[in-house]
Amino acid sequence: MSGRVAVITGAGSGIGRETSLTFARKGDSVVVTDIDEEKGLETVELIKQEGGDAVFAKTDVSKFEEVESLVNQAVEIYGTIDVMFNNAGIGTLGHILSLKIEDYLRVIDVNQHGVAYGVIAAGRKMRELDIKGVIINTASVFGYLASFGTFPYQAAKGAVRMMTQNAALELAQYGIRVVGIAPGSVDTPIIQAYKDAGMTQKMTEQQMRKKLIRPEAIANAVYLLTLEEADVINGSVVMLDDGYASF
Ligand code: NAD
Repeated sequence: MSGRVAVITGAGSGIGRETSLTFARKGDSVVVTDIDEEKGLETVELIKQEGGDAVFAKTDVSKFEEVESLVNQAVEIYGTIDVMFNNAGIGTLGHILSLKIEDYLRVIDVNQHGVAYGVIAAGRKMRELDIKGVIINTASVFGYLASFGTFPYQAAKGAVRMMTQNAALELAQYGIRVVGIAPGSVDTPIIQAYKDAGMTQKMTEQQMRKKLIRPEAIANAVYLLTLEEADVINGSVVMLDDGYASF
């Protein structure tokens, strides 16, 4: 499988960057998108150094018009959009009683509304062009299991689970598949605050191998989920968590 077009949000770092590299290595063209232009351009450069094909489009996923424009740009440049990976996210660490409402709203805007906007904009475009595409949404094990200090993050990730299921139901008639992923603790910059707070061991004690997951492992799994061979997986949120949430 190669020659597809994948739009990946939050692709300037961590899971998004690794997934961009993985798709490009497999021969797909990648629209690398991030709110952070410098980091996004770095990802494009890394892809090009390996002989892959990528372009950068700066996007704040918390703004619908920017996400809509992103999808339009992908189609203008490459003529299609086969994969939309709604992955951008921000973290939080702090007790619910000291939570600032503006911080709560920002996490919901990026982690929940950002995914919704990606689903809506890509879904509309795929429908308009009759593309049998795949939409992947990043949830988290924190969308399932309560953890201290992450109230808004957990609210958003729980919503991503249900949005994934609903979108899969409504878009299936158009041949569009929607799948969620729920990573466990992955070694990326988003968990720096937890590391600084000495929480790394706590984060990994529930994982079978007692260590942080490499972002490359998440990227490989995301790639597999987008293949036609995986088309029975629809509306599910797939646990990519080394057993963290094996209840
Ligand atoms: P990361 O911090 O390395 O990458 C997140 C990227 O998203 C950054 O490049 C950042 O600039 C970008 N971003 C932030 N706000 C944005 C916005 N408004 N618009 C566009 N881009 C924006 O973190 P990561 O671990 O790679 O996170 C990727 C996704 O995986 C997030 O949704 C995160 O919640 C989720 N996740 C991560 C873990 C983990 O342990 N690392 C676990 C479960 C889920």
